[in-house]
Amino acid sequence: MGVACRGRFAPSPSGELHLGSLLAAIASYCQARSQQGEWLIRIEDVDETRTVDGAEQAIIDALARFGMHSDLPIIRQSDPARQFAYQQALKQLREQDLIYPCVCTRKQLKGLSRYPGTCLNHPPSKSLPHSLRLKTVDHNQAFNDLIQGPQLQHPAKQSGDFVVRRKDRLFAYQLAVVVDDADQGITEVVRGIDILDSTGRQMYIQQLLGFNHPVYTHIPVLMDHDGRKLSKQNHARPVALEDPFQTTCHALRLLQQPIPQLAQKSQSALLEFASKNWRADRLRGIEALR
Ligand code: GLU
Repeated sequence: MGVACRGRFAPSPSGELHLGSLLAAIASYCQARSQQGEWLIRIEDVDETRTVDGAEQAIIDALARFGMHSDLPIIRQSDPARQFAYQQALKQLREQDLIYPCVCTRKQLKGLSRYPGTCLNHPPSKSLPHSLRLKTVDHNQAFNDLIQGPQLQHPAKQSGDFVVRRKDRLFAYQLAVVVDDADQGITEVVRGIDILDSTGRQMYIQQLLGFNHPVYTHIPVLMDHDGRKLSKQNHARPVALEDPFQTTCHALRLLQQPIPQLAQKSQSALLEFASKNWRADRLRGIEALR
């Protein structure tokens, strides 16, 4: 029998762990542990062009400093076994007649929020370099986010038919993440709000492939002192590793969670307290963490 509850933290090795990603790591950890669940680390390096040398190990080492270890061996999206799994998923979607080639360039699509279906209506020659798009259908994807509340997304209107394999033949994050979450039996997805908009598309793929939907929780964005979103793109500093206990307390305060009164600075006791007392809904209605 599978584990009843399993969460994951799925960093891309495009830089070191920063405070924003530490918040996602701690939140996903506590959300799983508060239900006696397992917690996994997965390396999301499907976009190899963004992989930074040494970042993967730096992230894993940093998480270990914070007392967070994957309950199962860490997998990476670049592993041949994962690539095979994405290939199989793509095949299933193809068999449902939902995949078509697209030769549109970024330049041609600039400024458009949704794909207008150009290559669906005018099929290109397959000998040209092409991406593969998944057809969307006119339907609402409803789900209840544990922090953001009831959501109604509509992939066909929001993004239109979307890319599942890129022109450079790399699988798209949207496909890889769904196949990984399903194959790893993930029941709880906790991540940053920047991915909230992708969730409808991911649930759509889950439905097409006959996978269960995990429970989704998107934590508010973290702002820096100047009110800018903290991210690797904004060159957020790597999280300080000198005093993990202090940094974890800071992270828990940002996440609106209680801090224990401990006689000694024990990282494991702190994580245990945080997990026992974790309630994602304390973050409801909060737009940004600062
Ligand atoms: N790999 C993504 C990131 O590092 C997270 C994706 C997810 O949690 O679904 O931002």
